[in-house]
Amino acid sequence: MLAQPHFPAGQPLAVLTTQPLDRLLDYRAPEGGARLGDFVEVPLGPRKVLGCVWGQAEGNFPVEKLRPVSRVLDVPPMRDELRSFLTKAAEYTLTPLSLMLFMATRAPGLFNGPQTVKVFLPGEPPVRMTEARKRVLDVFDAYGGAALTVGEITRAAGVTGSVVHTLAAQGGLIETEAAKDQPYPPLDPARAGKVLSEDQAAAAEVLKSRADAFGVTLLKGVTGSGKTEVYLEAVAECLRKGRQALVLLPEIGLTEGFLERVEARFGHRPGEWHSGATMTERRRLWRMAAEGGVQMVVGARSALFLPYRDLGLIIVDEEHDGSYKQDEGVHYNARDMAVLRASQCQAQVVLASATPSLESWVNAETGKYERLDLHARFGVAELPEMRALDLRGQKLPHGTWIAPALKAEVDQRIEAKEQSLLFLNRRGYAPVTTCRACGHQIQCEHCDSRMVEHRFHNRLMCHQCGATAPIPTACPECKTEGSMHPIGPGVERLEEEVRATWPDARVAVLSSDLFGSARALKEQIAEIAAGGADIVIGTQLVAKGHNFPLLTLVGVIDADLGLHGGDLRAAERTFQLIRQVAGRAGRHDRPGLALLQTHQPDHPVIQAILKGDDEGFWKAEAAERQALGMPPYGRLAGIILTSTSVEHAFEAGNLLAQNADPLFAIGAQLFGPAPAPIARVRGRHRVRLLIKAAKGAPLQGAIRRWLAGLKLPGDTRLAVDIDPQNFW
Ligand code: ADP
Ligand code: ZN
Ligand code: ZN
Repeated sequence: MLAQPHFPAGQPLAVLTTQPLDRLLDYRAPEGGARLGDFVEVPLGPRKVLGCVWGQAEGNFPVEKLRPVSRVLDVPPMRDELRSFLTKAAEYTLTPLSLMLFMATRAPGLFNGPQTVKVFLPGEPPVRMTEARKRVLDVFDAYGGAALTVGEITRAAGVTGSVVHTLAAQGGLIETEAAKDQPYPPLDPARAGKVLSEDQAAAAEVLKSRADAFGVTLLKGVTGSGKTEVYLEAVAECLRKGRQALVLLPEIGLTEGFLERVEARFGHRPGEWHSGATMTERRRLWRMAAEGGVQMVVGARSALFLPYRDLGLIIVDEEHDGSYKQDEGVHYNARDMAVLRASQCQAQVVLASATPSLESWVNAETGKYERLDLHARFGVAELPEMRALDLRGQKLPHGTWIAPALKAEVDQRIEAKEQSLLFLNRRGYAPVTTCRACGHQIQCEHCDSRMVEHRFHNRLMCHQCGATAPIPTACPECKTEGSMHPIGPGVERLEEEVRATWPDARVAVLSSDLFGSARALKEQIAEIAAGGADIVIGTQLVAKGHNFPLLTLVGVIDADLGLHGGDLRAAERTFQLIRQVAGRAGRHDRPGLALLQTHQPDHPVIQAILKGDDEGFWKAEAAERQALGMPPYGRLAGIILTSTSVEHAFEAGNLLAQNADPLFAIGAQLFGPAPAPIARVRGRHRVRLLIKAAKGAPLQGAIRRWLAGLKLPGDTRLAVDIDPQNFW
């Protein structure tokens, strides 16, 4: 352990707690002393709370009056690197440091000392061998006879817990105790990876040469070009150097295929960090990250806040993905925070995408990031052929959305035993339900948002707050019976059309709300990949990196969706989404076709997609943003005020607008207050202000001065969103 400043017993020291306080608290070092960075339990009023030794005492109280630290936790102290990352991230996002510490300690049970778990080892050969018992024993063989928990055995062997316990009762397994939080099985970077193509090998060499130092590389390549294969080589190099690697993925529920690839490449699975992991798994991973007992972590954005012992590489896969931006609690963009963390721990960052964010594209253009391009799709020469299907002048029968030309293509695929994907980025049955008699639309009671009909659940649902309500048989407004009817398609309604059109086809619908668990979704995806469906209907869920080898047709039902959002990133998002979805077609040896149903075939975004002209799209979009002084050529910050009283929210907004001198002093402009696009969520009214500043302007400092001492009326709450992505 490095020599950390040490506070001998009884000495005063300052502790940062996870409590919402805007200052450090002084305590006395406990018996045995404490080091800078030690995680501690401290008394706060009647409670004990988690904290971290942050520095010298503030000295506002005489030492005799200070209470002692209750206990130093049995985990490695926080390293300087993480301390400075949290401090800088707090400054950048204007978040209280206590909240950053809270994010960095979200591992349940950190307080509990070492504990033991029940594990099993193979015992006497069982008297009676059954199929299930054999599978259990095979699992031990597969793990080289390691002690396994019931959970591990049942999962790997596909048996119930009672099989294990009965076997143990008969002596076939021996039960013992093991310390919890075991290290993860070692990964072996020396195992052979795939033989890389020339293009891939060259990119892998460049990444390897950049290991061990801070730097950011944008790895751009169409879906299927082998970006994953290439960055796994960077992971291998990082492991060889004895450092830890982190891979961030946007849809953590969908990582099964990725985990299998890691296992195939390095011999074992990496640590997994996401909200679906069990408490025990999270606690184990947190500790092992700190102790160096895990070499590779695959996780959601919050995995950035783990206490790695020596983080040497961060991969941000699908770096353009909107889910990297957290819009609740701490507003942060994991892609940008990854770069910040890496700069603190001398790590390499790889941003991988087929359709990079404009920010990253510009950073590569200006030389701030390095850029590597993979040109060809592996094993397939071409991107799928892309064609617009012009809907103008086509009159489709009422309640249908599949044009005859698309239908004919699907027919051909069914004939050839290939798969078709119909993409529609709208969950539910229909986006709008209106009354035929009076035109009434059903709104959410808590939000300014329409209720969306979900026939699958037989409920109306608000996509903003998740509230549900029964589907009324009569109009709530004019009481006409049977008058409520759906307008426009959602995936569920599209499914109806598909089943009516192809009654014998096997149809699968992939929409996040149709699955009870991430596991069920994974199974469905695996089944589709294995050929278990002829037609797949999906929302943006399918745009992520899954391999569907039999898929050769993608039909985009409404390519215009998202073109008229009026939002800064509407064009960019549409471009990315359609490119990604089209990238699903023809991944292996079969050529693919993507058909885009559109009313605006001449729209520049649709044109850029059809021509496969990525660079042209980015150049045009960049020029537009530059002309407007918009990000990444200018800076934005959002202020979101929420209150149960609309008057209070506006009162706060006006107060801010009238006292904005600190902003004007840096040449910034202030817009608003205005009702947010979604003006009410969960019963709270929402008011927004938007700040626009020049690229180099010291925005955070100005906002801090502006908000200092502000008294918010009533129950008004204020959130700052630096670099906002979503303007809801
Ligand atoms: P991307 O991450 O760019 O979408 P992947 O790395 O997932 O691409 O590669 C797409 C598919 O091609 C995967 O099934 C992968 O295993 C395969 N593949 C890519 N490169 C190679 C290679 N050099 N040898 C064998 N298979 C490869
Ligand atoms: Zn009505
Ligand atoms: Zn709602």
